[in-house]
Amino acid sequence: MLKQRDTPKSVRLSQSINDEEIKYVTARKTLIKEWLNSQHIYCELEDVPNIALLGSGGGERAAVGMLGSLHQLAQDNLLGSLLYMCGVSGTTWCMSSLYSDPALSLSERCDEVINKLKGPKVDLSKAVEWLKLRKEQNQDLNLTDFWGAFTASYIMKEIHTRRLSEDSHIIKPYPIYSAIELNCHRQDDTKGVWFEMTPHESGFSGLGAFVPTSCLGSKFEGGTLREKRKEMDMVLLQGICGSAIADKQMNNVEVVKRIWGLFGGKDSMRMEFVSRGKVKVCECVPSRVVRCVSELIKYADDPDPLKTWKVITTLGELLEGHVSSNGEMLWNMDSERWKRTSLVERKEFIETVSLELILTSDSWTKDWEDKRCTCNDEGMYGRSLRKSEKKDKVSITNSWITDALWIIKNIFPLVKTWEWGTVSNFLFKILDTNVPSSMASKEKIHLVDAGLKINSPYPPVLRTSRDVDLIISLDFSAGDPFEANTHTHTHNAYSYSSLSEEHDVPR
Ligand SMILES: [Zn+2]
Repeated sequence: MLKQRDTPKSVRLSQSINDEEIKYVTARKTLIKEWLNSQHIYCELEDVPNIALLGSGGGERAAVGMLGSLHQLAQDNLLGSLLYMCGVSGTTWCMSSLYSDPALSLSERCDEVINKLKGPKVDLSKAVEWLKLRKEQNQDLNLTDFWGAFTASYIMKEIHTRRLSEDSHIIKPYPIYSAIELNCHRQDDTKGVWFEMTPHESGFSGLGAFVPTSCLGSKFEGGTLREKRKEMDMVLLQGICGSAIADKQMNNVEVVKRIWGLFGGKDSMRMEFVSRGKVKVCECVPSRVVRCVSELIKYADDPDPLKTWKVITTLGELLEGHVSSNGEMLWNMDSERWKRTSLVERKEFIETVSLELILTSDSWTKDWEDKRCTCNDEGMYGRSLRKSEKKDKVSITNSWITDALWIIKNIFPLVKTWEWGTVSNFLFKILDTNVPSSMASKEKIHLVDAGLKINSPYPPVLRTSRDVDLIISLDFSAGDPFEANTHTHTHNAYSYSSLSEEHDVPR
């Protein structure tokens, strides 16, 4: 019914919603009318109420909370009433998974996603494969790519390479994903800040400036398409929408921890190889450094310094003579002193070391770079495999050095540049009185977690043209959803009352 026409490849400047959304919404309302009839409520199509379900941010908690709420709505047979589903941050992680199988109903998919969350993580090699592909297709590889791959594989445990524009023909509650533009956010530009993404159009809700979602990320100039690029997939969308840690470089501790987390842990990279029919662990310097750091991070909160005492000794020996990114000696902790340090001191030390080792990876990864480590060398692997029992093959992740080196060479440098959500600005060089020149002068914009602004996706449903009658807002935030969830911002009063001044208050 909703066959996609050839969408014009240009910027649309208007406060109204687009024709395709109107068609989708009409089709959805026909279904809602049938649902109302089944509840013995009879009305004309134009009297069907526009009900929007909103889900707040709150990371994994919000994703789980949204799933639980939807499960209960399904139990009570209320899902049929929803016209819009609108998410911010963690809620979008669950939304992007929910819409992945058009053949399944929302409630069936909801149960599937719940089961996925209880299952194993996605194999690291799959996440690296996705990142490699992104690097090939895109010059702007940034931390959001890493974050998307991490979220999909380690939190949601599914890699969805579907594009948002592919969701344009399934008549479920119309999905609206939210982000904010980082520079507008920092400059307190309330009109340019909120960015919405729907199956049909993406753009600035406040400015009324949109492009077809299939063209988001493509290069525009003066309002017309100059260079078509591949539309982002759901993995990157999850990375953009849920990147609250992008806000301040001080959050790099969290990012650094997650990057190291890729190497350590039960489900992560196993630094093993087969020799004479036995599974052995790589004892080359880079592998040992990685294992030491993973161990330190694992026990960073443990009050007993003896748990990490031996690790500190080993790491100290491995890194002797290495210099930090600031030119000082990296290692100034002897193991006897380690026993006397406080928990806080040790945590700080572990944070410094794990960041410095990312910034100075060139120096300690030489064994891998120069191929001195032959532990999972293809040829050697082949030889040992012939001698070994077949069953050993199962326990081996053969390409781990290639994957590990790739992460070190391509993801580690991103911590230094600290760039997030880089996307071509479709308003570049556009001449229109409604677009501020500050916006038209930027070649790139940076889309990050909207929870940094308001932890509830009100702006898209307050657009007059969406004509929403009832907002059901589910809150999974740790604090007040109208206060941004960073501890550093003081002037983020994009409160409900100031919203109401700009938009119509919903009936
Ligand atoms: Zn080795």
